[in-house]
Amino acid sequence: MAKRVFSAALLGCAALALAACNASKNESLSAGASLDDAEKASETLLKTGGNGDDWGAIGFSYDEQRFSPLKDIDASNVGQLGIAWTADLDDARGQEATPVVVDGVMYVSHAWSKVSAWDAATGKLLWKFDPKVPGERAVHACCDVVNRGVAVWGDKLFVGALDGRLIALDKKTGTEVWSTQTFDAERPYTITGAPRVVKDMVLIGNGGAEFGVRGYVTAYDADTGKERWRFYTAPNPNKEKDGAASDDIFASKANATWSDKGEWQTSGGGGTVWDAIVYDKDLDQIYLGVGNGNPWNHGTRSNGQGDNWFLSSVVALDASTGAYKWHYQETPAETWDYTATQPIILAEQQVDGKPVKVLYHAPKNGFFFTIDRATGRLIDAKPFVDGINWATGYDLKTGRPIENPEARFYKTGKPFIAIPGALGAHNWHPMSFNPATGLVYIPAQQIPQAYLNDMTELDKRKIVGFNVGTSLTGTLLPDDKAAFRAAVAATTGRLVAFDPRTGKVAWSVAHPAAWNGGTMTTAGNLVFQGTSTGRFRAYAADTGKQLLDLDMQSGIVSAPSTFRVGGVQYVAFMTSKGGAFPLVAGVAGGVTRKVPNIPRLVVLKIGGTAKLPAPPASTTLAWNPPPQFGTAAQVAAGKAHFGRYCIVCHGDSAIGNGFTPDLRVSGTLANADAWKGVVLDGMLKDRGMVSFAKVLTPADAEALRAYVIDRSNWTKANLPDAAAPVGR
Ligand code: CA
Repeated sequence: MAKRVFSAALLGCAALALAACNASKNESLSAGASLDDAEKASETLLKTGGNGDDWGAIGFSYDEQRFSPLKDIDASNVGQLGIAWTADLDDARGQEATPVVVDGVMYVSHAWSKVSAWDAATGKLLWKFDPKVPGERAVHACCDVVNRGVAVWGDKLFVGALDGRLIALDKKTGTEVWSTQTFDAERPYTITGAPRVVKDMVLIGNGGAEFGVRGYVTAYDADTGKERWRFYTAPNPNKEKDGAASDDIFASKANATWSDKGEWQTSGGGGTVWDAIVYDKDLDQIYLGVGNGNPWNHGTRSNGQGDNWFLSSVVALDASTGAYKWHYQETPAETWDYTATQPIILAEQQVDGKPVKVLYHAPKNGFFFTIDRATGRLIDAKPFVDGINWATGYDLKTGRPIENPEARFYKTGKPFIAIPGALGAHNWHPMSFNPATGLVYIPAQQIPQAYLNDMTELDKRKIVGFNVGTSLTGTLLPDDKAAFRAAVAATTGRLVAFDPRTGKVAWSVAHPAAWNGGTMTTAGNLVFQGTSTGRFRAYAADTGKQLLDLDMQSGIVSAPSTFRVGGVQYVAFMTSKGGAFPLVAGVAGGVTRKVPNIPRLVVLKIGGTAKLPAPPASTTLAWNPPPQFGTAAQVAAGKAHFGRYCIVCHGDSAIGNGFTPDLRVSGTLANADAWKGVVLDGMLKDRGMVSFAKVLTPADAEALRAYVIDRSNWTKANLPDAAAPVGR
């Protein structure tokens, strides 16, 4: 097959540098080239992306643009996409992975860190792998027991398990080759992100910054699982050396950005790298997207002092050694859970008439960043959503945000309703970049959140649950119908086509609810996205015109990929609700509350005629709250415990989102002993509902029961439609 070049911009080599790029056979291969077997099993597929037959990594190639050169499907025929095959999956939890396809075999990870392999064209199951993560690990997962994908490399593939194991599997059989524990399992760490493979090393980070951990990324030998290097993204608790690649930069500069008095010394400081780890093949360096601080509250975390490197930063490291090269901190002195973990895209853009290697980033804080990859210099930062109120913009000379002083609630002592909130203007849902249009397609959203200083939480630092130094109880909605309706109305989603060259939104599409799926774009001038309301759509990449709208029965959070087998182009994705939003959203889930949650792998092709299985019968849950009991003080105590321990999985005001059980209709609610059996005795621990006996007394559990019964009665009387319990 002829090797063809479809876009010079994708080469990663400016025209002047072509001679250097031709130095080796691998590097002389252009994007768009067909690859032989040896090349597919090497870095070449990840460096070039190949001709689009394969989708070799979750982000397509090292540049993580999620752009396919395939154009067999385009505006003229995308409306004829139908189902080629589907496969129902085991667990009705979030399915966040992007399917990876190499040589006609699809590899995908699932809830509970399970992995499966399929004949990508026929849907024949080739193997399944279950790492058997203990169910009680779920209590340490802020945002569901999800997994965002595998990395395929040579004859192996790699997956990070929720309990901290990095596991190498035989690509052909799914049998374990090696496994290594990447964190102290006694601490509330998790892994939900996809590993990346660079230079015969597997890179993985971790999550846990809501609970209290210290973030880091480790590189392991791909053949043996032995550690090569580690870079910490928050300081050593005693500001001592770790014997890690991060030692020098902490000693010389980063330690000084953390107060010597602060909760970080106990909690670990946060800064976990739970999603974006991107390799720059042009500059041979790695970019880490670093998470929020722990506790969130900068006033308690670092005594209100210092920028706290490397929280909410993009950090560039030498790929071979992990040595620090540069960083850019998007949110200095982070205090709103504004992570910079969101996906990072590498591209080339004309800046002042010259081609510049840039990275694109749209983190939670609502600004779109264009950063010079060689130096870390901020080229531009512009809002990609409306209504941002924590900052008015960025000073491009200093690279710092121009903050609204009201936003630092721990200084003012007053609550601040922030846009965006902790779920972000953009969360983990992958964005994509189309070199032909120059646009970046962002699954954006609006989910406001109140922040309120709460030192007492940390005085009572507990070993289970969130430790954020910010009152989640204070954010619970009051007994006010208008407030509930306002919360629904204020929570929306939007597909944003952002033009980094102008710093403006080129076009956008409004979604009725937040937490929509990731995007993928193609040389067929298409953008694909699933929605939280159960649709799978395609749009014209240049104009945003809707060209496809399929009913998928279930909410969709994952991003699609595309590939070609036997000359046929396919589009693959998973359905399911899941992640942080359906856990915590409560009534703000709006219309998505009633959308079913079906874990399913779906593959489409032009003229596909397969049918989805029959949708689940809609169930009406009996809603007969037991009579209220307890004093006002008891109910208030229950509310405080709920805000502290329960809201993050069971929703504001105990209103479920059709994902985890709606406690207002729990069969245990009317029976104090049964309730206690679940809350304190851990009867449902294998499903992730562990015992809270370490932090709650029997009297606390009873106060919680009084509160949930109170909420069940109040919502039934006041919001019979908007808050009706829905089945899962
Ligand atoms: Ca977080």
